[in-house]
Amino acid sequence: MTSIPGNLQAVRRRVAEAARVAGRGVDEVTLLAVSKTWPAECVREAAAAGQRAFGENYVQEGVAKIAALADLDLEWHFIGPLQSNKTRAVAEHFDWVHSVDRAKLAERLSAQRPVGRAPLDVCIQVNVGDESSKAGVAPEEVIGLAAAIAALPRLRLRGLMCIPEPDGGEALLRARFAAMRALLQSLVGAGHAVDTLSMGMSHDLETAIAEGSTLVRVGTAIFGTRTKLSEGAV
Ligand SMILES: *Cc1c(COP(=O)(O)O)cnc(C)c1O
Repeated sequence: MTSIPGNLQAVRRRVAEAARVAGRGVDEVTLLAVSKTWPAECVREAAAAGQRAFGENYVQEGVAKIAALADLDLEWHFIGPLQSNKTRAVAEHFDWVHSVDRAKLAERLSAQRPVGRAPLDVCIQVNVGDESSKAGVAPEEVIGLAAAIAALPRLRLRGLMCIPEPDGGEALLRARFAAMRALLQSLVGAGHAVDTLSMGMSHDLETAIAEGSTLVRVGTAIFGTRTKLSEGAV
């Protein structure tokens, strides 16, 4: 048995404590509730407990949930891998995209963002561990991609996102997050008005906040362990 309101409260406490330990204000860290695989009623329950920002990984599932919950004032973040042929639905329905890792994707999102909506907030996903199997740009390519995004009229570059390798241990994790913070600083130095470090999940949000995370993406600790049963549900 999991209680979404109770879990949310516990996660908020973890975030607040991590911020306090890091000497940061609790309002410097946004909690993104990752609702992938969980049905719309679970999102509704979290929203009733005061949660406003939600993250989704799959385009169709996310769009269906956004439609089912259109009566609520929620903010929707696309955080999964994105294929070029699925950008339109994301540009039309989401508020943020955290997984931009190539100029072509950014160009399509900008071209397809409806004029009636605010510019799409985007983060560049960084392959901070430099693993060949993972999504994200190499750290040395971040500056170039940031310049390309900044030139697009319907996108607003907000910062950087990463998913470090899960099994590297605490010291490596910390080094990865620190490298992300330095990369964000280099973007500021290059004149970009960026303010977002999207890093930290259920198991490592404390370490991420210690290294400057401004947005933690938390699924399991709020909604419970994802199973085959919850996969693809709307
Ligand atoms: C699923 C997912 C999360 C949430 O992970 P948990 O371990 O369940 O907290 C965060 N970020 C991304 C990109 C994800 O795909």
